[in-house]
Amino acid sequence: MRDTFKPKTGSVASQMRSSADRIKGDLETLGEIGKTEAGGVSRFIFTDEDFEARRFITGLMQSVGLRTVSDKVGNIIGRRPGRNEDLPPVMTGSHIDTVPNAGIFDGCVGVVGAIEAMRVLNANGVTSNRPIEVVVFNNEEGVRFEPLAGSKAMACQASVDSILNSRDRDGALFREAFERGGQRIDGLPSPCRRGRVRAFVELHIEQGPILEKKGLDIGIVGAIFGIRQFLTSFRGVAGHAGGTPMSMRKDAVLAAAKTVVAVDEITKRYGPPAVGTVGSVRVYPGVVNVIGEQSEVSVDVRDSDGSRLRSRSGEVKRRIKAIARATSTEFEIVDRLEIDPTAMSRRISRVIEVCAKRVGARYTHLDSGPYHDTMMMAKITKCGMIFVPSRDGASHSRKEFTEWRQIAKGVDVLSETLVALSK
Ligand SMILES: [Zn+2]
Repeated sequence: MRDTFKPKTGSVASQMRSSADRIKGDLETLGEIGKTEAGGVSRFIFTDEDFEARRFITGLMQSVGLRTVSDKVGNIIGRRPGRNEDLPPVMTGSHIDTVPNAGIFDGCVGVVGAIEAMRVLNANGVTSNRPIEVVVFNNEEGVRFEPLAGSKAMACQASVDSILNSRDRDGALFREAFERGGQRIDGLPSPCRRGRVRAFVELHIEQGPILEKKGLDIGIVGAIFGIRQFLTSFRGVAGHAGGTPMSMRKDAVLAAAKTVVAVDEITKRYGPPAVGTVGSVRVYPGVVNVIGEQSEVSVDVRDSDGSRLRSRSGEVKRRIKAIARATSTEFEIVDRLEIDPTAMSRRISRVIEVCAKRVGARYTHLDSGPYHDTMMMAKITKCGMIFVPSRDGASHSRKEFTEWRQIAKGVDVLSETLVALSK
């Protein structure tokens, strides 16, 4: 086989870069599948639209010479052979399932972009030592069935049976929903890939405003935020708004309001990248002239640093206790989500940085607030993430947009990174 590595020029894919037009064509075609009347895309797994999208992507993979296979939980893997087929492959990819009325970029950029990267490698006659695999993770968003199902299984964090036997909200069985697409699960390979992935790199939209605001092409992710989510409920005593003196109230709405302010105040004191959100406040009975009897406040705090996250989450909880005392209410805290931050591999981030310079991409280092399949893959292999800008920071909405040439820049960085890692 011809070896076209050109260490002297420093670039292995310098003959041809990715095509913004081709990326646009593929993303828009994919975005037509599951299009809603509201102008967004709804593509939940194992629906007709999802199966159509799978066929489209599988066809694209094959058109660039990848050998495709689905594993037992519905991940699609396209393999580009390496000179040494026994070595664990370098992997890249993302997801194509969406939230309701989504845009056409979240996840899809990382899948279509990975396939475009394979075209770039082909056009430059690149042969790699290690195989390269493009993966479509099943059910990242998890509108139907559990989120991150595909990457969880690939990272050996969930058993195949637990996923196949899970049910959606309407009681449909994962296994049956999957086989409705015409695949027989029994003959498919197991998803768990511990020890059999050399490195994983995901290209994704930022889903935040930083890159656009700074006028940059690329974000190199340092860590994916950890999350602490809990629900706090306060119980007070309903009373007449006119007849109950201020000093004698047990006001659950006041306690909720103080909690909202406390999350904001404590989070701002910690400073960036800490974020804290109260997205939902519910009050009972919710009547204008009645003192609140009950309230329920959601708390969501995130940070890239695990110890800062733990200490802030603890501080918010202690403050809630103090608020309950001050408002003479009873409180209860129920933990909902505890995810620790995931650090990307410094070595891979350095490779991405070198490649960004090589293709002339203006870049910065940042963290990811949203979670990604990479979070799971980091449990079994070294990972890196490349972000491209999101216009107005919009995501999970049909307003999602990334300039085509910026996606192409991201793909160029990805192509170079894959070549460097698979040498
Ligand atoms: Zn995504």
